[in-house]
Formats: sequence, structure tokens, C-alpha cells
Amino acid sequence: MALEEIKARIAKAEAESGRKQGAAHVVAVSKLQPLDRIEAVLKGGHRLFGENRVQEAAGKWPKFKERYPDAELHLVGPLQTNKARQAMELFQAVHSVDRIKIARRLAGLAQERGDCPEIFVQVNTGEEPQKSGVAPLEADRFIAEVRSLDLPLAGLMCIPPQDEEPALHFGLLASIAKRNGIGNLSMGMSGDFESAIRLGATHVRIGTAIFGSRGT
Ligand SMILES: *Cc1c(COP(=O)(O)O)cnc(C)c1O
Repeated sequence: MALEEIKARIAKAEAESGRKQGAAHVVAVSKLQPLDRIEAVLKGGHRLFGENRVQEAAGKWPKFKERYPDAELHLVGPLQTNKARQAMELFQAVHSVDRIKIARRLAGLAQERGDCPEIFVQVNTGEEPQKSGVAPLEADRFIAEVRSLDLPLAGLMCIPPQDEEPALHFGLLASIAKRNGIGNLSMGMSGDFESAIRLGATHVRIGTAIFGSRGT
């Protein structure tokens, strides 16, 4: 599916739910995609991309950024403390902050560098043991801790369980954001982005629907 078609569907979902046109940004998730497909999307004028591994992003994005200096890159996958420094050099936002250890590490590096990517706290809305993210009941406390570290907290992120109605999870994430006064919601992927937009998504993370199926 072409990005143009996805953007048209996004505009329709925004209009139907009474949201402003352009309220939802497309993070084109380019993990494991051939370079020529990424290049084609860059050539088409899109500038916001997502990767889920620091190492993989470090391998391909510095070259793209030389040619497309206004490209913006968001980390949507887990971050380990030993990759935090590298992540800060590559990414303009981190969607997956979910442990105080990594929050402290990012805060320390932010002090040192004088700037910091935008921070999204990942919430494990389905409370799945194998999934990253803070538990919904821990979210308020964790958000307060992140704020106390002076990190630029921009939003919340979730990845709903495979076999459940995603709207329930989008709604839960939106309610946690609302009661904490948080403006951005990173939710919705290739299969469910319209539902996410109706529930307030500001960042939809779309991979396969833009680029086609991933190599492994
Ligand atoms: C891969 C990935 C996506 C994109 O998934 P698609 O189903 O290909 O749209 C979104 N979010 C995260 C965290 C991912 O790892």
C-alpha cells in the first residue's frame, strides 16, 4: 500500500472523529526493510521514520541523514542502558522508556549533552509478562519519576496484545495520558491505526502497510 493511500485513510479517520487534519503523524517503521524501499519513501518527501533497534539504525541512518538532513528518527523498540549514548545521537524521540534505570541514564546524558530526545513512556496495557512497558497501575508513579528527572516527557506508547480488541488498550492509554496531562499518544500500527486515531493517537507507527513485508 502506498504511503499516499495511508495518509488519505488517516485524514479520513481524523475527519470522522472530529480531529484536526495532520493531528496524527506517521512514523514510518523501516526496521528490516531493504534500503531502496526506505530511499523511495524519503524521495517521496516523507521525513519521519521509526526503528526498533539501536544497532540496526546506526548501520543505515547516518548515511540517509547526510542526504536528508531533515529526516527525523524515533526509537520504537526497547533501549538498554549501554546503548543510551548511541541512541541519543541517532534519535529525536524514544518511545519505549519503561524503567527508572534507563530514565536516569537518559537524564544523566541529557545533562552532559545539553539536549535530549523527546521521551515517551511505554505502558504494558495488556499486562503481558513478555512485553516491555510499565504496568497500568504503576504508570502514574513512573510518569512522576520521569518528570522529576527533568526529562522532556512528550507522550505515552503502547502495543496492544495480539488477540485482544486494540481499541480497549488505546482507550486505556488515552485515559492515563489525560489524567497526567500528557499530550502525545504513540499507538496504532498497520492493522489498527484508524481505530488508534479515533481514540486520540498523535503518532501512528506503521511498517508493513507502507513498505511491504519485512525481511528477517
Ligand atoms: C515493527 C513495529 C511497528 C510496525 O508494525 P507494522 O505491523 O509493520 O505496522 C510498530 N511499533 C513497533 C514498536 C514495532 O516494533
